[in-house]
Amino acid sequence: MHRNSGLQAAPPAQLVFPHPAPPAPRSTVEVAPGILWARLALPFLLDHVNLYFIDDGDGWALVDTGIGDEATKAAWQELLGAPLRNRPLTRIIATHFHPDHVGAAGFLLRRFDVPLYMAATEYLQSLNINLDPGALEAAHYRRFYLEHGLDAETTQRVVTSGHAYLKLTSGLPPTYHRVIAGDVLRIGSRDFEVLTGGGHSPEEVMLLCRAEKLFFSADQVLAKISPNVSATAVDPEGDPLGYYLRSLRALRADVEGDVLVLPGHNLPFYGLHTRAAELIAHHHARCDRILQACRAAPRSAAELVPFVFTRKLDPHQMGFAFSEVLAHVNYMLRLGTLKPADTDGAIQRVAAVL
Ligand SMILES: [Zn+2]
Ligand SMILES: [Zn+2]
Repeated sequence: MHRNSGLQAAPPAQLVFPHPAPPAPRSTVEVAPGILWARLALPFLLDHVNLYFIDDGDGWALVDTGIGDEATKAAWQELLGAPLRNRPLTRIIATHFHPDHVGAAGFLLRRFDVPLYMAATEYLQSLNINLDPGALEAAHYRRFYLEHGLDAETTQRVVTSGHAYLKLTSGLPPTYHRVIAGDVLRIGSRDFEVLTGGGHSPEEVMLLCRAEKLFFSADQVLAKISPNVSATAVDPEGDPLGYYLRSLRALRADVEGDVLVLPGHNLPFYGLHTRAAELIAHHHARCDRILQACRAAPRSAAELVPFVFTRKLDPHQMGFAFSEVLAHVNYMLRLGTLKPADTDGAIQRVAAVL
């Protein structure tokens, strides 16, 4: 390779995508020996989710399932034939409770009598939504949005249509196989270390095969999208952004930078450390915007949304945007760059410290 004399080449700052295009619908692509990648459609702005199949001897260990709607069930009928070489599933690993990842698990487990592997908090969260979906419209959800400044009409739309996606599941089994950070899963001839990270979901499971430099990152690190990091009505003062940044720093420290990242959305890529650094910088930039806005006047989380998200938002997106802004506010309250503003009572606002 040609090199300019005297000039040291900088390490590659850009991500490298070994597969420039995703698999065609209802087909698979082999991304490593005995590891297949497929995609299922989602009825959202984010219109797809990635699934992976790891050779497990007698069949495939599945990583994530797609959403629990009829289109996904129909796609599964075709995937389970030739695209999967007519081999069965041996177990299902759901990385986290979001319905695009665990939603079709009940449907699949009615067909295959195999264990469901999940982290405990992810399983319990999913089970909770399955057992009591009406709770998503309960008083504490409405209070959460109203207290942070969302108007009554938008609150109503967010807790009904904005929450509808959480119900797109096909049930969960009453028993599961718990995985926890530090476990090693033997899948076929490979060992996978279990890593978990917070922020996007409570305890998202990632799988690392150090011997072959394969890293299933779930939604924790995606190539194009900044994964949603939301404060929730159940833990309204929680610090998911703090957990998320902590997780990104841990991935940079604990996982080698030259792994092939196999994410839950977008394309597989090389460049884990670069992408993790980009995501950290992205959240710091959002904190700066919020700080600037709060220097001009005390503001509620809802009033801060347009400073962070400039495009028009539907109820689904508004729910995410509001909760994401509140995650930044909660993080900055802990850092001490924001403080609670004197309030007129009903709505909580924050002010810049400096
Ligand atoms: Zn997710
Ligand atoms: Zn996802």
